[in-house]
Amino acid sequence: MFLRPLLLVLLGTQTISCVSAADAAKPNIIVILADDVGFGDLGCYGATLVKTHALDRLAAEGCRFTDAHSPAATCTPTRRALLTGGYSWRQEAGSSIAPGDAPITIQPGTVTLPSLLKQAGYRTGIVGKWHLGLGGQGGPDWNGEIKPSPLDIGFDSSFIMAATGDRVPCVFIDQRRVANLDPADPITVSYKNKIGTDPTGAENPELLKLKHTLGHDRTIVNGVGRIGWMSGGKAARWRDEDMADTFAAQAIKFLETPGDAPFFLLFTPHGIHVPRVPNERFVGSSPLGARGDAIQELDDTVSRVLAAVEKKGQSANTLVIFTSDNGGVWDDGYADHGPQGTHRINGALRGTKGTLFEGGHRVPFIARWPGKIKPGTESSALISSVDFPATFAALTNVPLPADAAPDSFNILPALTGESTTARTSAFFHVGGTQGPLALRMGSWKYIQAGRGGSGKAAAPDAGDAPKPKLYDLGKDPAETHDLAAELPDKLREMAAFTQAARAGSRTRP
Ligand code: CA
Repeated sequence: MFLRPLLLVLLGTQTISCVSAADAAKPNIIVILADDVGFGDLGCYGATLVKTHALDRLAAEGCRFTDAHSPAATCTPTRRALLTGGYSWRQEAGSSIAPGDAPITIQPGTVTLPSLLKQAGYRTGIVGKWHLGLGGQGGPDWNGEIKPSPLDIGFDSSFIMAATGDRVPCVFIDQRRVANLDPADPITVSYKNKIGTDPTGAENPELLKLKHTLGHDRTIVNGVGRIGWMSGGKAARWRDEDMADTFAAQAIKFLETPGDAPFFLLFTPHGIHVPRVPNERFVGSSPLGARGDAIQELDDTVSRVLAAVEKKGQSANTLVIFTSDNGGVWDDGYADHGPQGTHRINGALRGTKGTLFEGGHRVPFIARWPGKIKPGTESSALISSVDFPATFAALTNVPLPADAAPDSFNILPALTGESTTARTSAFFHVGGTQGPLALRMGSWKYIQAGRGGSGKAAAPDAGDAPKPKLYDLGKDPAETHDLAAELPDKLREMAAFTQAARAGSRTRP
């Protein structure tokens, strides 16, 4: 240690050295949160029928985690947990899949991942899918200023879609306003009754270019039936085929914004959520139909975003994390999947998005940080994306208030490979404040009785819902042998731990 000041004086570059020391402590951070990408969907996780060159390269240059999880098996609760560091079953707002016109589910003033990083001096931005509600109690004003929004919970910039591609309104929101909105053609949205005169999937199926298999038969936009009805906003409506390109361009725009501050980008592509309508460049690019094509389109998006970082010479000082908001699902309401072949969306795991089996919440998780994370490594540490706030607060030396991020653990040592372990337990959730929870402790997995809000997508493998279940993932990663009846003491222990967590207000120290 005593050599360092001497070295600095000798080199005569004290100022420069201090700057690089500060940079090293505060790397740029890009979190890419993909949608509905399953544990087996990427080449680096065993897929052979789809090609994911950029993500495979990211894994080869960093660490691939094999026991990483989304805190919920569906979108909204995972995203809320990722941003707030609290499990989403703790409060009503954001505990289940939000309608497209829901009010904001994270109140301004809440300590969030971006607010912590802003405090650390970061320029913070979000590009992509939001799905956490917008506006006050009555929901967003689509034709005016949209507030509260991501801009009120810690993001300096925001280019988002309100909910999902299968929900109205089918428009992008740039900062506080719907992009390309003609004031003479205002937007109206309803999730209760039909409004306006636009054709619907139920009434005009002949106008659909994509058949729906579960619901999705309300207002038709760009030949696709959606959940909910909308009218107006014709000039602002998206073309699904251009969505990935639009979000990629906005992410790159954020990355190319000049400035000296380190940046945090939460990039949340829509891929590969339904409707899977990839750009014409990708149609037929995989042997698996639209779902496979959408994976390859997502990989291309990642490749372009990483190339923009590289072009700015920032790769060496940028921590990039890629993960998914829940497990994979084949049929989620449209005929947009294609042949399955030998492709296993969730690898050897049981269950899908919307279930509490591993296929619902064990997800791909890749982290690259040159010089800090050894290339080509693999980690079996138990981690969850609810851990981002505590981890990035630790990384950037921002104190985490005692009542903030109540379920977020600092997993930095596992992220950098200093430690081979992280959490000793973790909860996973589906559907509302009373929906069932699953608990991991060591290799044990406990699933409470009840189907929760898993929806139709999960129905084929919702399991024996009336009874709690117990598995030893060390011996039985595919959850085929329920040990609940054989090991009543272990079942009771895990049930008690779960009840205590529900009754309490935090799980972190
Ligand atoms: Ca999702």
